[in-house]
Amino acid sequence: MSISRQRANQHLSRLLESHSLQELASRLAPRSDTPAISIPKHHHTLTSGEIAKRWHALGVSAEIQAQLLDPQTEQQYRSYQHNIENFIGTVKVPVGLVGPLRVNGLFAQGDFVLPLATTEAALVASYSRGAQLITEAGGCTAMLLSEGVSRAPGFAFENLRDAGLFVAWAVTQEEQFRLAAERTTRHGKLADLEFTVEGNHVYLRFQFLTGDAAGQNMVTIATQAICDYIIATSPLKPKYYFLEANFSGDKKASLQSFLAVRGKKVTAEVLIPGPMIKTHLHTSAAAMVDHWRMAAIGGVLSGTIGVQGHYANGLAALYLACGQDVACVAESAVGVTRFEQTENHDLYAAVTLPNLIVGSVGGGTGLPSQHACLEIAGFAGADKAQAFAETCAALCLAGELSIVGALCAGDFARAHQKLARG
Ligand code: NAP
Repeated sequence: MSISRQRANQHLSRLLESHSLQELASRLAPRSDTPAISIPKHHHTLTSGEIAKRWHALGVSAEIQAQLLDPQTEQQYRSYQHNIENFIGTVKVPVGLVGPLRVNGLFAQGDFVLPLATTEAALVASYSRGAQLITEAGGCTAMLLSEGVSRAPGFAFENLRDAGLFVAWAVTQEEQFRLAAERTTRHGKLADLEFTVEGNHVYLRFQFLTGDAAGQNMVTIATQAICDYIIATSPLKPKYYFLEANFSGDKKASLQSFLAVRGKKVTAEVLIPGPMIKTHLHTSAAAMVDHWRMAAIGGVLSGTIGVQGHYANGLAALYLACGQDVACVAESAVGVTRFEQTENHDLYAAVTLPNLIVGSVGGGTGLPSQHACLEIAGFAGADKAQAFAETCAALCLAGELSIVGALCAGDFARAHQKLARG
């Protein structure tokens, strides 16, 4: 996080062009005057009166209000009650279609059409191109390899001896932990438990199966029940504990999740015939492998977790459209892409993503337009989450093929210039 002396000087000179050092320092001082605006607080039941009060407090024009609180949003505002606080309306994000994307998966079977919500020109075009290529090549094979969502409470003891005695007790309690957890949920199942001792601190990492839900709320509530049981019955009381001790990988790219699983771990592969690479991507398998090799080393040199091009683009747009927790792209968009040239000059391409946090129920999946997008994709409701995860990997594969093809053919800047700048 350091800045070179030269950059620091340049930055300071720019700041001092318009303000003295004293003025800058006084801008940074704490202030005790009353805030210029007060936002009417959220109540358990969302009412139209409460929404109107917030708009009144904002004091903006009717035109600006109408952009967020349009007639349809006004009509449906109650649907948002359990997904947002201090509600004032909805933001319209354009949605484009990608597909058909042929997936030959353990769970996902068929030609999928995926709605992507984004304001980034060229994104949908690029994924569409990759999807078309995969579909014409017979589809990609996709395999869900593992599942599990974790919560990791941390417990602090007087000393290492007490921490060790706590672990000795906790390893005998898995059945009781399971009972406590599973009293809070019908679909959540405690699947595994790991112990990490660091000095007088103990981290317990609980892994749950969460049915068709992405599961972050489910595992939080279940783990709280386990912690309540621990505090009530453990022969060694911790000095203090926290329900989450930043050890689960929740909403961040972490080496631990990369090596194990967080959410759904999926791998997908496709074999693209050389002539098809020529007609669709205007390049060759050899050039794409050259790019992949250099990009893999580039990833290592820059310290990325995993090696991939732009999983985040497709996942963020799909998550946004389909009511997934977009912040989970931080962990979901981690993985490994691999390209190889076969003896016949075809391209073997594979992606593996160990942290896909997706659900077909719960979270934002029931909201009006998000549910509609899940219906379009074919992943609304029970028994669809695994197929959804496999299709996420297929989408990422499409994106990797297209972006590397564009970089190899020299189309990357051209496509953005044409599509984004008109
Ligand atoms: P949720 O909507 O809180 O829970 C899923 C609900 O669906 C549960 O009530 C579950 O009931 C029910 N359900 C019905 N049919 C199901 C099925 N077939 N499979 C699984 N569940 C089924 O959603 P969540 O997935 O647990 O949590 C996702 C949300 O958590 C996202 O909105 C995310 O933003 C948020 N989040 C929370 C935290 C946190 O720490 N609390 C952190 C990050 C994100 P049963 O439980 O009885 O099975």
